Amino acid sequence: MRLGIISDIHGNAVALQEVLIALEDAGVDEIICLGDVVGYGPHPGLCSEIVRGSCSLVIAGNHDRALGDIEVQGWFNPVADSALEWTRERLDDEDLEWLLALPSEAPHAEGPLCCHGAPGAPDDYVLTARDARDALLASACGIILCGHTHRPMACDINGRRQCTWLHWCDGDVVPLEKGHRYLFNPGSVGQPRDNDSRAAYMVIDLARQEASLHRSRYEVGATQRAMRSAGLPEELAKRLATGV
Ligand code: ZN
Repeated sequence: MRLGIISDIHGNAVALQEVLIALEDAGVDEIICLGDVVGYGPHPGLCSEIVRGSCSLVIAGNHDRALGDIEVQGWFNPVADSALEWTRERLDDEDLEWLLALPSEAPHAEGPLCCHGAPGAPDDYVLTARDARDALLASACGIILCGHTHRPMACDINGRRQCTWLHWCDGDVVPLEKGHRYLFNPGSVGQPRDNDSRAAYMVIDLARQEASLHRSRYEVGATQRAMRSAGLPEELAKRLATGV
């Protein structure tokens, strides 16, 4: 069984389609999405439709939840807030209902716990080794999958509760060792923030007991043009070129 893991698509269908082609080439059996299907990007309806049709498990991100929760939206900065208003107006009832019904976390049948932020705390950012250790100690699962930060991350916690930060760049493969527990973030498909403009995603191969990170180039200019013609904030279009 091979699982493709994607997160933080943010309405960028150009990046999403490129990643789905790569996952098909990689021969994955299922795809899991860790949330933020929409928000910021110019294709919210198309991304909702594609994710609904291609993922076996989808978690709600804070941007997805904010569509129906004024309290979550209240935490947004003005740029995210205006993009969310734009997004809400462009989703049809079916997409909106689907997005609002997504779970805030869920275990996958093969074992990994799938979250947007952290286990039990969907809005928390797991950014440091200490955050990862806290997240791993908050759950008994052998693998925890988190998104939300838009930065790829891999941590290993062994039986002595020591958390090790693992090298996790394009092409890196992490062997899943017995007695160890892992936290992975696949990075962001549609708005990377690790100074790399390429879309990020990961694959877990359960038969070989290994996880790998991958990046795909996509036509950033096509998404930027769609954002500009939609009248979305310019800074959201600009940041895609550098991945910040
Ligand atoms: Zn996000």
